[in-house]
Amino acid sequence: MITFDDLVSRVRSNDADADTDLLRRAYEFSALEHAGQTRRSGEQYITHPLEVAALVADMRLDDVAIAASLLHDVVEDTLTTIEHVRDLFGPEVAHVVEGVTKISTIPFSSSEERQAENFRKMLLAMVDDVRVILVKLADRLHNMRTLGHLKEERRVKIAQETLDIYAPIAHRLGMSKLQNELEELAFRHLDPAAFDRLRAWVEERRRATEETVAQLQATLDAKLRDAHVPAVTLEGRIKRLFSIREKLRRQKIGLDEVYDLIALRVITRKERDCYAALGIIHQIWPPVPGRFKDFIAMPRPNGYQSLHTSVVSGGVPFEVQIRTERMHQVAEEGIAAHWKYKEGRVGAHPDEKYFRWLRQLLETEKDARDPSDFIHSLKLDLYPEEVYAFTPRGEVKALPRGATPVDFAYAVHTDVGHTCVGARVNRRMVPLRTRLQSGDIVEVVTAAGRTPSRDWLTFVVTSRARHKIKHFIHAQEKVRAVELGRKLLDKEIRRFDLNHRAVLASDALGRVAAELGIPKADDLCASIGYGRLSARLVLTRLAPGDALRERTNGRPAETPPARVPAADEDAIQASGCDDLLVTRAGCCNPIRGEPIVGYVTRGKGVSVHASTCPNVVNLLYHPERRIDVAWGNAGDGPGAFTVCLAIQVQDRRGMLADVTTRISENTNIRRVEADVNEIRRGRISVTMDVDDLKHLQRVIKDVRAVPGVIDVERVLRQP
Ligand code: MN
Repeated sequence: MITFDDLVSRVRSNDADADTDLLRRAYEFSALEHAGQTRRSGEQYITHPLEVAALVADMRLDDVAIAASLLHDVVEDTLTTIEHVRDLFGPEVAHVVEGVTKISTIPFSSSEERQAENFRKMLLAMVDDVRVILVKLADRLHNMRTLGHLKEERRVKIAQETLDIYAPIAHRLGMSKLQNELEELAFRHLDPAAFDRLRAWVEERRRATEETVAQLQATLDAKLRDAHVPAVTLEGRIKRLFSIREKLRRQKIGLDEVYDLIALRVITRKERDCYAALGIIHQIWPPVPGRFKDFIAMPRPNGYQSLHTSVVSGGVPFEVQIRTERMHQVAEEGIAAHWKYKEGRVGAHPDEKYFRWLRQLLETEKDARDPSDFIHSLKLDLYPEEVYAFTPRGEVKALPRGATPVDFAYAVHTDVGHTCVGARVNRRMVPLRTRLQSGDIVEVVTAAGRTPSRDWLTFVVTSRARHKIKHFIHAQEKVRAVELGRKLLDKEIRRFDLNHRAVLASDALGRVAAELGIPKADDLCASIGYGRLSARLVLTRLAPGDALRERTNGRPAETPPARVPAADEDAIQASGCDDLLVTRAGCCNPIRGEPIVGYVTRGKGVSVHASTCPNVVNLLYHPERRIDVAWGNAGDGPGAFTVCLAIQVQDRRGMLADVTTRISENTNIRRVEADVNEIRRGRISVTMDVDDLKHLQRVIKDVRAVPGVIDVERVLRQP
């Protein structure tokens, strides 16, 4: 068991300038906070942070990371708050402690491969300082080393999580030594029977295998000397149990088919010696075709460099790895190696986006003057384009940055997207346009019968959501256009006093459609509805020649413009919500309940005006384009209509507050403007949402009742 003094001397030997006072304070605080707590092993709890700190010190991380290691469990496991840690140890230590604490709270739940991948990415995306990951990895390694003290269920869960999440992260960071130890330990706890069997099997062969290794080493050593290729070390080893097991699984073979238990490793001083050594090895033993890999010329994405070859001796194949000391260091310690050897060069795969940041680190390293500068440059944004959010059942969805609950809903299922009406993020209701953050738990609220809103297109970011919404709206619009087109055509037929049945006799519409190069009768009607074809033109095709005598011949218009339309069956239905084909005219902005008239525009469907609208007079010029409209029954939702009131008031204290309070009692105010004119009259202009005309009238009545209000009128054009 390591003591604090051991830790300090380790830190000192790496970095003479380390702030040991900070470490001592962190240690004493942590020991005090964890006092009385014991680990499952029966040891004092403080032994765990001490061991973690020692591992982090061995990675040669700075004093901030080591102090944070000592404190990494105080926020999670004691009553200490992160603010308290910040006050005592400064923002940097607190930031690392907070990061480690945050990772601990992610509920990893699935070992399914794709999910595990998302968890790893999410974890990394939540981290903005590489020290957080390294402290967390050290924490996990120590926990794995002491896992035997836990109950089986916990043990299996932690081991699986280690295998799914932490070992791959260590791999990504190139820390193969740590990765290997995590994998061996996880294997041992996940499948102790298989582990023991494999270990016994290897032990049986150990003596013989070690003799073989020694012979191979001696042969190679002699040849390298003869050729004057200096090798620093020649390592022979028996493969790790986890990697043997993986090989059995991957190649679906039995133990008796495993030959290459052995691996040799040649470590040279210079890169060119690697290639020289390779040539010699291939002279001694015949290479297995297709097994040579040059990771020196083409480094792995995590910076790993080495030559790999498989050769055969006495009928037994074995792998040889050849690399320089520097490459070996990087292979074993990955990212942590960069603190130790700063002069080296490590390549990275150019199009591996996960490692763009590592490249950035390495690039920054070149011009960093001292180690602490380097540390300060370790700000990460690992997945700048993505966020990771949970379903309530713990499934992770990867989404582009800026994604909203609607994107999330469509990522879950198209139907969930279509019927989505709201969302709870981390148990709080939020607007649908809220941008999600990594780690958010998103619960989509759906309601049967609800449909996507055109408005969503202004904020969704995934192409899936955009596509599905557009598709739905287009399909709906088409239905609407067909219906509208039929009504416009009916109106035209009636205008010319034609026999409806005769004109639309057996597939007459289909025939006209074909003449016009349109697929079907419905598409023809849709074209009329969209305003691409006029009803008149279609009618001339349906009933050619002089049959077209207008019934209304000689009369200027059928009805006076201000007629209140009857809400008859034939009327076009209008609603407050967006509808591309039937739109409310901006000039008079009619609201539900008001008398309205429709006007067939050229190319933009039907425009709905209030029958009191001054522009309605103009409709007289083209009476044939007037059409009956009625308010549809479609639910607009509350506050679907935005109107503006101009309120004349006496200039007195609290007038504005009285008026707006009264209004906001039963509607949503969007905007308020107020000013006072020269005769001490105030004018308040309020833009607000109402449900319908009745609602508006109620609000106006309420406002009139406010003392000091002189006049209230609705302003048609919104300011
Ligand atoms: Mn811990």
